[in-house]
Amino acid sequence: MDSVSPILEVNNIEVVYNKAIQVLRGLSLSVPKGQIVALLGSNGAGKSTTLKAISNLLELQDGALTRGDIRFDGRDTRGQPPHALVRSGVFHVMEGRHVFEDLTIEENLVAATYALTGRRASQADFDLVYEYFPRLHERRKGLAGYLSGGEQQMLAIGRALIADPQLILLDEPSLGLSPVLVETIFEIIARINAERGVSMLLVEQNA
Ligand code: ATP
Repeated sequence: MDSVSPILEVNNIEVVYNKAIQVLRGLSLSVPKGQIVALLGSNGAGKSTTLKAISNLLELQDGALTRGDIRFDGRDTRGQPPHALVRSGVFHVMEGRHVFEDLTIEENLVAATYALTGRRASQADFDLVYEYFPRLHERRKGLAGYLSGGEQQMLAIGRALIADPQLILLDEPSLGLSPVLVETIFEIIARINAERGVSMLLVEQNA
């Protein structure tokens, strides 16, 4: 039964910004180990807020989890700094990708490896990313700022792989991409899930 026990449990949470604006109330969800769960919602419904509550990024935006609890792999995440959560296996691919535009793809991966693991990038780190994203290998010496939106999304997900996560939170991975690229990105997400056993919680806007 271990394969269906939850890696993530969100229980009845409430989120408030600026001590005044309640954005989430009574939200519960769970992600079974090794599975992909998609959360759909309209513009402004609180999808990004849900992911920020899980990765403990609310504080940076004057937000707070005021009720409920969140458990990753059975442990309460409350009070765990975001970087500690990354080390324990939760990786948040934020909306907007946030790549270093003035660095090459390879330099982005070097920076990510150091920031995420505290060690120097090795060929194995690059190979892992390029195995799933051959397009990034082709463009590895090019500046990330010149990549298309889809390629930047690949780089953002590729960086996540370096952290060897158990759970990836994906904020609107299809945003701004052509239908063909959306299909490519989702195929790769499914492959990462199937081959590496990484659980995923992704949020998308419904039409
Ligand atoms: P989108 O698809 O537009 O990204 P979303 O479902 O991800 O929408 P959120 O970004 O979570 O929605 O925002 C939910 C609500 O919370 C919105 O009304 C937004 O204006 C508000 N909100 C988000 N961040 C803050 C903040 N830092 N301070 C105050 N209000 C905020």
